[in-house]
Amino acid sequence: MKTLIVAFGGNALIKKGQKGTAEEQLENLKKPLGSIADLLKNHKLIITHGNGPQVGNILLQQTSNTEVPQMPLDICVAQSQGQIGYMIEHALDQVLTDRGIGDDHLFLTVLSYVHVSSTDPAFQNPSKPIGPAYPENKSKEFGYPMKKTAKGWRRVVPSPLPEKIYQRREIKKLLEDNFIIITCGGGGIPVTKENGKIKGIEAVIDKDLASAKLGEHVKANILLMVTDVEGAAINFGKDNQKFLKEIKLVDLKKYQSEGQFADGSMGPKVQAAINFLESGGEKAIICNINKIGEATLGTSGTQITK
Ligand code: ADP
Ligand code: MG
Repeated sequence: MKTLIVAFGGNALIKKGQKGTAEEQLENLKKPLGSIADLLKNHKLIITHGNGPQVGNILLQQTSNTEVPQMPLDICVAQSQGQIGYMIEHALDQVLTDRGIGDDHLFLTVLSYVHVSSTDPAFQNPSKPIGPAYPENKSKEFGYPMKKTAKGWRRVVPSPLPEKIYQRREIKKLLEDNFIIITCGGGGIPVTKENGKIKGIEAVIDKDLASAKLGEHVKANILLMVTDVEGAAINFGKDNQKFLKEIKLVDLKKYQSEGQFADGSMGPKVQAAINFLESGGEKAIICNINKIGEATLGTSGTQITK
């Protein structure tokens, strides 16, 4: 049995142009989870996922009501892990039951905190936009850093590097017992330590980098990053754009050093693939959400090996 980590991008839950109702999100999950159910015969499985739109909605719900106290970002991330974990479990239950194997697999969502260094340089440069967009005059009312984006003025938070997942030992035990584990949602709840005690912080960790770190902790064999394009491309968006198929780590690093993979989107996926392979993983794959089965067989997506 190989251990497979599937990292779902935002489009697994909400497609472009959708509002993101509960019904839409549950329906969207069925197809990719169906493909994943087919992999359970020969894989132990961990599912990780993004939370951008969901945590954005939680923040909007908070700011549109002044009667209840606002929660800090780490608690909002925890909330999003709960709601998305439940939706993934719900859809998983449906696809497994449809296949007549509803009683064969146990699954569990694990709330996860991820340690980041309080001296991470990201804290000097909050760069990750989160939550709703506001007009410029309104943006001055908030007590946190805001940045102008294509959508309007948005809150920005630091995006520090994941150093350690606190629940790694629990996750390992669950894997040994063949649980399907849903964890590291939204990159995990960012925490640092103060006087030896954990302390939640207002930041967002990249979910692909967190998934690679988890892979290192549990000695996963394969990291499958599922997104809305066919894989990693060179000359992305240009006439001579070319999606990479099978590629060795050294060649991928060469393209990375040329700046072929955009920060905040394909960049972290490529970096996660590199980190995963350099820390003992066998294979990293970046693939389209509709081609999960083919990608695990090696016939679709960007297949990266040492
Ligand atoms: P996810 O929610 O799956 O993490 P992202 O938006 O973060 O999705 O990353 C996928 C996006 O990366 C693609 O939709 C594409 O627009 C963008 N992208 C940037 N550079 C590249 C590249 N070199 N090759 C492929 N996609 C790229
Ligand atoms: Mg992303």
